[in-house]
Amino acid sequence: MAKYRIVHERESCIADGVCASLCPDNWVIEDDGLASPLKTELDDLGCNMEAAQACPVNIIHIYEIKEDGSEVQLI
Ligand code: SF4
Repeated sequence: MAKYRIVHERESCIADGVCASLCPDNWVIEDDGLASPLKTELDDLGCNMEAAQACPVNIIHIYEIKEDGSEVQLI
């Protein structure tokens, strides 16, 4: 089971590209100009926390998935 889950409120993305600049491993700008994560279930957070912290409209959320399946929101 993945250790982290990313939730992106895409409808609120302002298309500034900060996440893709800071974390190109997992964030891309789509043809409509809005960002999307390549993967939403991760074993390793990598640069995703930096992207979430830098998002100016705070629409990238990260949940840690515990062994019992419960989730804790990190951001
Ligand atoms: S940093 Fe936030 S607002 Fe900017 S492109 Fe990424 S998700 Fe959208």
